[in-house]
Formats: sequence, structure tokens, C-alpha cells
Amino acid sequence: MRRSFGAKVIHITQSLLREIVSMLFPISCAGCNAQKTPLCTACARTIVEPEHSDTLIAPWSFRDPRVRSLIHHLKYRGRTVVVRVCAEALSERLTEEISEKITYGTFQDPLIIPIPLHPSRKRSRGYNQAALLAQTLAETALFSCVYEQNVLKRIKDTPAQAHIKDKRERARNIVGAFALHPDAQEKIAGRDVILIDDVATTGATLREAEKVLKCAGAREVLLAAVAH
Ligand SMILES: [Zn+2]
Repeated sequence: MRRSFGAKVIHITQSLLREIVSMLFPISCAGCNAQKTPLCTACARTIVEPEHSDTLIAPWSFRDPRVRSLIHHLKYRGRTVVVRVCAEALSERLTEEISEKITYGTFQDPLIIPIPLHPSRKRSRGYNQAALLAQTLAETALFSCVYEQNVLKRIKDTPAQAHIKDKRERARNIVGAFALHPDAQEKIAGRDVILIDDVATTGATLREAEKVLKCAGAREVLLAAVAH
């Protein structure tokens, strides 16, 4: 995506500010306050797993207060160390899920695609937390995959799903929110995809984005989030 000079300056300033904040306020464990890690190994072992879902892949339950704290850091501060801890947990869970499929060749070299933010929301936040996650996941995953940012775009600035309690209302809110970037069809036709979001409550957002990818000819689409 081409950015204007002003937008580039804002983007660089926001990234710099995030780095400065990271240096000034060293992070501590969301569970026990141990220094220098967003989640220590001991606390990581006791994080609550989500209820089983046939369609969503997620390592952590959003009911766990430590998970909610990590997701808050991810969403509003975009701190690199937090992104890495979340991406690692997601990567481990995904590896469990797909290693058999990869062995049998039924799922290959997936594209890692983040749920996009609407441009106006991305401007105010300065980054898309799902994109940070997807990119870090693709860089560190133990399976072969490719990060693809410019496939989906958000064409409707919908109210945040988190503010809508009713499940049917959430599904209605998100209908028609996504479209394909021009030229994206050839990138995804016949490809396997892992679609990434930070949190999936009912999964409505991921399923709506999946529809667009399937329509464009994606082969298998897995829906993944850090917390469910
Ligand atoms: Zn801890």
C-alpha cells in the first residue's frame, strides 16, 4: 500500500514511541509480575485452554485474566515482546493442528493472512495487531508458510465486535465488512490459508473473512486466534 509522506512520518513516529515506551517501562509477567517477560514459563504452563471448537484454533482462553491482560497490551500498545509471546503460543497450537495434514500433503505452504482493520481505525491505532501477530508467526513458525498482508481489506467501519453482546447481532454487524484487494485473487486461488485474528469470541469476524477467501478460490482456510 502506498503511503503519503505525512502518513509515513506518523507511522515512523508511532513505531519509535512504542520502542521508547518499551525501554522506559520494562515489561513484567501478566501472572506473577516476574521481570522482563510478558509471561513467565511457570505461568504459561497454567494458562486456561479454551473450550473445544470444531472451527477455531486458539491456544488460550479469553476467560483467563492473564490472557486478557496480554491481549490488552497487544491491542493498545503493540509491544514487540508481547506480540512474540502470543505468536509463539499460536504457532505451537497450529503446529499440533496441522502437522498431520502437512505430512499427508493435504495442507501445504499456507498463506498467513491477518484480519484487516478499517483504514480509519488503523490510522488512529497506528498498527494492526493481527498483522503484527501474523507477521511474527510467519517469521518464527516451525512449518513452511508465507505472510501475505494485502489480500483482504476492510470496507466497512463496523462497531467493535467486543461491544456487541448478542451472537446473532455480532454476525449481522460484520456481514459485508471484507473485500479482496485488486490482484489478490491470483495470490490465493488454490492456496491453503491460515487466517489470523487476536481474539475470536463467536468467530463471526473470521468466518466472514473466510467467505471472501473461499469465494476467491482458496483451498482450505483455517481460522486461528490467540484467544477464544
Ligand atoms: Zn509468571
